[in-house]
Amino acid sequence: QVKATAAHPAVTTEQISETDKRHTIHPWADLATAPTTGDLVISKGEGYHVYDSDGKRYIDGIAGMWCVNIGYGNVEIAEAIAKQAQKLAYYTPFGAMTNPLSAELARVLAELTPGDLNRVQFTTSGSGAVDSAIRFVHFYFNAIGKPEKKHIISRLESYHGSSYLTASLSGKQVDRTYFHYMDDIIHHISCPNPYRREPGLSLEAYCQQLLGEFEDKINEIGADNIACFIAEPIMGSGGVLVPPTGYHKGMKALCEKYDILYILDEVVTGFGRLGHFFSAEPVWEIIPDLITCAKGITSGYQPMGAVIISDRLFDRISGDNAPEAAYFTNGYTYSGHPITCAAALKNIEIIQRDNICEHVREVGPYFIERLKTLEKYDIVGETRGNHLMACVECNISGNPVAAEDKDITAARTVDKFCDEAGLIVRPYEALLILSPPLVIDKEGIDQLVSILAQSIEQATEELKAKGLI
Ligand code: PMP
Repeated sequence: QVKATAAHPAVTTEQISETDKRHTIHPWADLATAPTTGDLVISKGEGYHVYDSDGKRYIDGIAGMWCVNIGYGNVEIAEAIAKQAQKLAYYTPFGAMTNPLSAELARVLAELTPGDLNRVQFTTSGSGAVDSAIRFVHFYFNAIGKPEKKHIISRLESYHGSSYLTASLSGKQVDRTYFHYMDDIIHHISCPNPYRREPGLSLEAYCQQLLGEFEDKINEIGADNIACFIAEPIMGSGGVLVPPTGYHKGMKALCEKYDILYILDEVVTGFGRLGHFFSAEPVWEIIPDLITCAKGITSGYQPMGAVIISDRLFDRISGDNAPEAAYFTNGYTYSGHPITCAAALKNIEIIQRDNICEHVREVGPYFIERLKTLEKYDIVGETRGNHLMACVECNISGNPVAAEDKDITAARTVDKFCDEAGLIVRPYEALLILSPPLVIDKEGIDQLVSILAQSIEQATEELKAKGLI
């Protein structure tokens, strides 16, 4: 057996995989198979393609993890990172210390976010951004003398992170085995899932039903006890659940009626995925009280997140309005890290200079339209999405309201054939999730959809042979 060392790094795929299996605990590791199942080792990326360690090329249908928005191998970002590392790799952001790039990035984010969202706190991840948002909201209500406002309303199937607090906010039931969650102040209401709504219910009536459930929950807990509502614009990891028209506007109106703050978690949707830097105002017509972001902020070239908070909230508890001894003791060693900020600033400059949001607004509808052609296959229940955030939902059981085991098997089988043909998608339950790098062009979209079609056909044959359809 070969043991990798720093001086002699593992070189063959088998050796890398062997070393990895022995020592790494991956996010969402399946503990039953982790010690034995080989990894897919990705070692290079270029544009919207990645290569495994044996040199096989794949279309990256998921932008790494919804994050490599401008694509792989960008030399300008690499140079910005190298330059900053040489100039100033790090200095503390605590108290009244800053660095030029952190100040500039905060200004840029304030400009890109809607309304009076002008106060930025930097984090090192999306989880950190959401965690910081909730900590701010609690701090805020304590500081203005409303300490009973602690409860948080989140949604089933949501995903907000993997810290103790953010995992507790997340509503994916499949993730809730063996851990402990702080559920005393966190409540989950239904998620908008039009495909799985009661048969016969119109979309308008469905939206009203969801809004009604939210208002009932507010009344049950008592508005005086509720601090905030948190929502992803389109639920990503929970299944690319696109809400019915008017949903976010309606939820925001209820929040205003009951003095509940609205946190919009744009960790996935920020930085161009829906054709805008932030989707809040142009897509959903709302200005939330706080926005969280990460991923696309650096296109994954450095780990970073941020929460952007409205002036209205910040001003109410700062300066002359600050209560006694009000230190906002939240933040990280690496908040506003100069190298990370250099990557983010260059990334944002590239998105603007190369008109990447406009490009997404052009190819996004084409992507959704091309995916719709897959609905002709019997094993596909629905394809849905918005611009470059989409999914294919398998449905072979015919159950309109819930996926069954065989639907999940169908999605996994399609995934297996995609993998063989050189397309990486993300299987989740009965879904195949898609979020390619934003630089994908129409030719890339055609190739992606054609591999999906071929894989669906192959999967159909295999499922038939197994007697599942
Ligand atoms: N919020 C949302 C909506 C996410 O999709 C994610 C990650 N997929 C997070 C928060 C957490 O981000 P991170 O993994 O960077 O902590």
